[in-house]
Amino acid sequence: MARVLVSDPVAKEAVEKMQKGGLTVDVKTDMTPDELVAAIGDYDAIVVRSATKVTKEVIEAGKNLKVIARGGVGLDNIDLNAAKAEGKTVINTPAASSVSVAELAMAHMLAISRFIPQASATMAAGKWDKKKFKGVELFEKRLGIIGIGRIGQEVAKRALAFEMTVIAYDPYVTQNMLGDLQVKIVTLDELLQQSDYITLHMPHNDETHYLLAEAEFAKMKDGVRIVNCARGGIVKEAALLEAMGSGKVAFAGIDVFESEPVKGNEFTSLPNVSLTPHIGASTSDGQFRVGMELAEKLLELLT
Ligand code: NAD
Repeated sequence: MARVLVSDPVAKEAVEKMQKGGLTVDVKTDMTPDELVAAIGDYDAIVVRSATKVTKEVIEAGKNLKVIARGGVGLDNIDLNAAKAEGKTVINTPAASSVSVAELAMAHMLAISRFIPQASATMAAGKWDKKKFKGVELFEKRLGIIGIGRIGQEVAKRALAFEMTVIAYDPYVTQNMLGDLQVKIVTLDELLQQSDYITLHMPHNDETHYLLAEAEFAKMKDGVRIVNCARGGIVKEAALLEAMGSGKVAFAGIDVFESEPVKGNEFTSLPNVSLTPHIGASTSDGQFRVGMELAEKLLELLT
């Protein structure tokens, strides 16, 4: 019977599904890197999310290891070169949390339009600042989506339901590829110049590092609102802070940071932000879907 090590938390229903399908599953979510290297030789597959680092040492010690299963989109915590060299199959669940991330982006868009974090904080402090929080509507505003892949398209559908006009910049997506979705593909400059709201939904790599820096903020409308639920490092934080200070950027909603975890930084003391600690994919619905999809794929590969 094939053995699976679950080293980061996944939905218990997913563990049950694997067990019912005939896999032996051990859930050990607090192993040190050394304990993992010592244990991995006994397993045919390992299931991780973002916490466990599947290093070269782990992969080389995994003599029976056939599959490395990552719940979620990124593969940054897996040494892909070592996996390839050792002939291990790497799988992930890129689509399972798209809606969760898209909904968080919408939540930030609403939060930075209606002072939700600020109003909540003043009420917690015993105040009733009714006059202070005059917001704006999303209705009839123009949203620019940078990166219109899985998550970007889910955001577009939701923004269209709010009757926003949606434009997008994505060098790898043509107008045809979007089918009936009422989103116009534009250049990056057009998006920067025309958008009332800008939201980012692409990977962080050499090409996208600091995609939004001083020169790009300078091209934006005064009072633009920015949401980043993609990855830290796509937006240059120093440039965003400057643009927020000058009033170029009215408000920002941020889930991801250049350096994480954040324990108090320049953003946490600003009055015009909505901040979350990298929780884009953290919903019970999304994590259930991630777990079930991994369980299905593992059963297919191992039984
Ligand atoms: P996806 O691959 O479906 O879409 C990414 C899109 O970005 C693609 O259409 C691609 O063409 C586009 N792109 C690539 N380079 C670009 C560039 N230079 N300029 C503009 N667009 C570019 O991926 P997805 O599932 O939609 O996920 C998008 C990103 O969301 C992930 O890469 C990840 O960084 C982030 N994410 C964040 C969380 C979170 O917790 N906040 C969770 C999941 C994913």
